[in-house]
Amino acid sequence: MERAIRITEDIPVAHEADVAVIGGGPAGVGAALSAARLGLKVIVIEQANCLGGIATSGWHGHICIYSSWARHDERVVGGICHEMAERTVKRGYGAFDNQSFDFEVEPLKLILEEMAAEARVKVLYYTQFSTAVRSGGRITSVIIQNKSGRQAVNARMFIDCTGDADVAARAGVGFDKGRPDDGRMQAMTLMFQIGGVDYDKVRAFRQGGGYKEKYGEDAEWWKLSGVWKEAQKNGDMEPFQDQIMGWWFTPTRPDQLGINFTHIPRRDCTNAEDLTYATIEGRRQAFHLINVYRKYIPGMEHCWLSHTAAIVGTRESRRIHGEYQIHENDLVAQKEFDDSIGYGSFFIDIHSCSGPGMDAETWRPPQGFKYQIPYRALVPKGIDNLLVAGRCVSCTHKALGSLRVMPQCVLEGEACGVAAREALSANVAPRGVDVKRVQAQLRTQGAIVFDKDIVRS
Ligand SMILES: Cc1cc2nc3c(=O)[nH]c(=O)nc-3n(C[C@H](O)[C@H](O)[C@H](O)COP(=O)(O)OP(=O)(O)OC[C@H]3O[C@@H](n4cnc5c(N)ncnc54)[C@H](O)[C@@H]3O)c2cc1C
Repeated sequence: MERAIRITEDIPVAHEADVAVIGGGPAGVGAALSAARLGLKVIVIEQANCLGGIATSGWHGHICIYSSWARHDERVVGGICHEMAERTVKRGYGAFDNQSFDFEVEPLKLILEEMAAEARVKVLYYTQFSTAVRSGGRITSVIIQNKSGRQAVNARMFIDCTGDADVAARAGVGFDKGRPDDGRMQAMTLMFQIGGVDYDKVRAFRQGGGYKEKYGEDAEWWKLSGVWKEAQKNGDMEPFQDQIMGWWFTPTRPDQLGINFTHIPRRDCTNAEDLTYATIEGRRQAFHLINVYRKYIPGMEHCWLSHTAAIVGTRESRRIHGEYQIHENDLVAQKEFDDSIGYGSFFIDIHSCSGPGMDAETWRPPQGFKYQIPYRALVPKGIDNLLVAGRCVSCTHKALGSLRVMPQCVLEGEACGVAAREALSANVAPRGVDVKRVQAQLRTQGAIVFDKDIVRS
């Protein structure tokens, strides 16, 4: 039975801004920088102690993809997301190959903070968004909780970049979660990093023939499935995962690997108990895997666990009801939209919602695959001063499998920042902005909005 306590209190207004960005992940960084560079007073509310979201707090040092599918010579993402990669590589902390950006996590935190400071973005860490105060069709304040207590932030425009649509949901915007039939969401993963790796040896085993010789031609070297099967058969590994989801490597730190391999399905990251469970279980799996790696992977004999991520990685939660819902058929048809704000090009990547490995709904596109993202998917229905960017935009479960990757989250944020300026200066709701002006501004910022902007080399 649900029980409730009613508390009334006076909540001080601690901050006022033109734009409040809630969540400082890839989407939030794009939104905050773009709005602030256009002269708006911007505050970012972030529960962690760094910008970057899954890329940093989630320890996922690999952002992809910037190109159309399997085409290094066709870059479809520019703007702030490309700038982040360029700045990091220039400082010697990562590598960019037109398709992916691999980086050391700690320096990216620093670089994002430098970018925020240059743009005069006010960043507030250790601060959790709690709820939204709504008056008619508008949000007047968001209520935050931090060491200073319970406070309000007033703004003229709010951009929900929490990944989970926390603000939209609390403000009463409709949303969906998970698969249409049973509501299940993609598995969570706690990223971890290992040190003490001889990557040349690992590569020689994985790609150089050693693995195939041992496990056969059909044993899919990139997944190393044969290894995990053998380890499980020998009783050395628990069956929570059966393939590598990513071993991220940057040549600037060749002795370290970021590991995307823990797997916690059947949980909901908008539930605090599930989040706690997933974190504890993910950490347990990470330590368990160290022994498996040491025993079975040449080049990892002396590996050690250097980090587990500060936040468990969420692939899927709420998807808002927006003015347009992006459908997987739009992606497959490589649809173009009059209100395009940029491109997506990732495969429909659905990690199993119930067991190990990938879901049968995963779809691998043809070479050169790309599709446009319509501005209307960032505009929630029924509210007049809220925009949404990142993992929680308006789309179907399957479409999210592709849209959820970081370049698209950053570019959606960047578009929201520009749209916020347009809406505020024209005194209209986000759904009423002149999209052509948003597109023109995005293109001046180096964003790739139309086919003619694609960088072909
Ligand atoms: C394990 C894993 C592997 C992935 N692999 C890749 C990959 O290879 N390449 C790729 O590009 N993408 C990958 N992704 C997808 C991508 O990382 C996410 O979809 C993307 O980061 C979403 O961006 P976002 O800004 O919407 O949300 P997030 O990155 O989740 O950022 C949200 C931010 O908001 C903050 N926040 C949330 N709620 C609140 C609140 N109530 N109050 C205050 N702050 C709040 C969080 O702390 C966080 O900083 C992966 C994701 C996972 C989990």
